[in-house]
Amino acid sequence: MSLESDIRARLSSIRDKVAVAAGRARRDPSSITLVAVSKTFGFDAVRAAAAAGQVDFGENRVQEAVDKIERAAELPLRWHLIGHLQSNKARKAAAAFAFIHSIDSADLLHLVDRGAAESGTRPDVLVQADLAGEATKHGARPTELEAIFDAARKCQAARVVGLMVLPPFLDDPEAVRPYFRQLRAIREDLLCKGVAPESLAHLSMGMSHDFEVAIEEGATMVRVGTAIFGERARMR
Ligand SMILES: *Cc1c(COP(=O)(O)O)cnc(C)c1O
Repeated sequence: MSLESDIRARLSSIRDKVAVAAGRARRDPSSITLVAVSKTFGFDAVRAAAAAGQVDFGENRVQEAVDKIERAAELPLRWHLIGHLQSNKARKAAAAFAFIHSIDSADLLHLVDRGAAESGTRPDVLVQADLAGEATKHGARPTELEAIFDAARKCQAARVVGLMVLPPFLDDPEAVRPYFRQLRAIREDLLCKGVAPESLAHLSMGMSHDFEVAIEEGATMVRVGTAIFGERARMR
């Protein structure tokens, strides 16, 4: 199969699975955004997915993304930064991405907000929670989240719209379910503590092998790479 028909078929199969999982949870499939994670793949893969109607794309490195975003300027796409954001790239990210899923401190939120104000952009951002305390992963510990949502009230240009989690990789998707449940419980807890519902509209959780479980647990954004574009040459 050609790249384009291959990607078209995979996207269509994933959209079907999203709808079935949503149905099991009695949720409206249109409340779930499929983010196609194109990291490490070239612009031809992005163009093929866009031709199949895909709008939302995820990248984990700012410079790699900016190159694709420039080439895609004529296409009506929305770009999501899903990887760790270093503070020295906050401004560039704020200018380039519609969504940033990896805010993990009030300081980083402030830098993104300032960068957005200077660039005249209005990015939507999500606060990444670290639920497993893995040394290799980023994110804010649950006890730090409330302070970040407090800081969100002072934002001028960026808008905090939810929570993201990148759980440990476990082969069995059922083993990941407790992390998805925990993120949803944290959302409820923050709502009880008075965080505005519009700041908690989204739960970004679920990847190629566990997005159906994530949808059952309330995901509104699933980040799917391998299942759309195939295996990446190198894990990163
Ligand atoms: C790479 C990546 C994904 C996609 O992973 P797949 O297993 O290829 O679907 C999702 N989220 C984050 C944060 C990633 O870095």
